Amino acid sequence: MTVEWDGGVLVSTEEERVCFDPQRRGEEFDRIFISHSHGDHTAAFSNKARKYSTLDTRRIFEARSGIKVENFNTAKYNRAVRVGSLEVIPRNAGHMLGSTQFEIHTPEETIVYTGDINCVNTLTTKAAKPIDCDILIMETTYGEPAFLFPRREEVYVDITKWIVNEIKNRKIPTFEVYTVGKAQEIVALINHFTELPVVVSPTISRVNKVHIESGVELQYIGVESCEGKDVLNGGNCCYVVPTRSRQDLPKNAARATATGWSIRFRPRNHMGFPLSSHADFNQLISYVKEAKPSIVYTCFGRSEILSHYVEKKTGIKSLPLKNKTDLYSSKRKRKNSDIRTNVERMLDFVVMPGFVYKKKWMINKLTSFGVSPQVAQRVLDHMEKKGIISYDEELTGYRLT
Ligand SMILES: [Zn+2]
Repeated sequence: MTVEWDGGVLVSTEEERVCFDPQRRGEEFDRIFISHSHGDHTAAFSNKARKYSTLDTRRIFEARSGIKVENFNTAKYNRAVRVGSLEVIPRNAGHMLGSTQFEIHTPEETIVYTGDINCVNTLTTKAAKPIDCDILIMETTYGEPAFLFPRREEVYVDITKWIVNEIKNRKIPTFEVYTVGKAQEIVALINHFTELPVVVSPTISRVNKVHIESGVELQYIGVESCEGKDVLNGGNCCYVVPTRSRQDLPKNAARATATGWSIRFRPRNHMGFPLSSHADFNQLISYVKEAKPSIVYTCFGRSEILSHYVEKKTGIKSLPLKNKTDLYSSKRKRKNSDIRTNVERMLDFVVMPGFVYKKKWMINKLTSFGVSPQVAQRVLDHMEKKGIISYDEELTGYRLT
């Protein structure tokens, strides 16, 4: 049995090649497991290979993308899936509805791949629990000591106070957030702590519907309905839109974003609230201590940095999960879907309107997924051409448009 990075987390036995969250379509793998429905984890949903995820993950993906998933098997929490000599048990990851950690039993060891995790309760999700294992493969989005989030309840209070204040100023508190996960938490927050109606964009409306069907309580009005338009024109409400819809905002919008990145980066002309659906640095280190693995592999984010700190703080050996092959240097033809996948990946990081993201940082983000610098530049050029970002020569960086 081997574990390696092959454009996703690849676990191979003599009989099977099982890939978790491949970053490409991945038709060559025997089985594919998808941890959750954020765009940087779902490239394989559009292929024909046999794939597994929770039903919520699949339904959110379909609601958001309009793509019908084929050759699909439902993976249920805490119910083992047998793949040759492997047994894969999906566990709650606390990151969003349907998000999954995978506990993989092999004849020799237990491996855990966390996917994206969050280890505290939120208004819409339950905290992920650390799983005992021999090999831990961990996400590292906020894997450096500067990323320590305040208590969630404090952030909820700060957001509520800001909403009340902006309503007093006759503004419409408007949240520009991730369509999946964060948007639903913000709607739930407004429902819980205020009596204001919440108007949402059509995509968020579709994703909300999947949440309601799975038992998450959300009250909102779609902006596409007559009622939604009337309420928004009336002004005594909140508005929740995806991170790229500035052109649709009302004139009296007071804008805010909610992401872990705002602990470090202050968006221009926006409020930034450090409400994250990922574990912060301390949560990641606590997870390692409780899971007690023999080795920790890091991936998806600040892998080198977190590996360094895991060894320093826990004494457990840790390494970034390494590339086996440079898939993007092969001679096969680039397809548009590659560009689209990479644009989606980029938009999971480039979220704050008004903020200048350094070109070098954006190129590094893309190359961390195994994309060559040339392809990374093509992705940025494509985003600029499509009007998604604009380049600021003076600051050598890009802004969301
Ligand atoms: Zn995610």
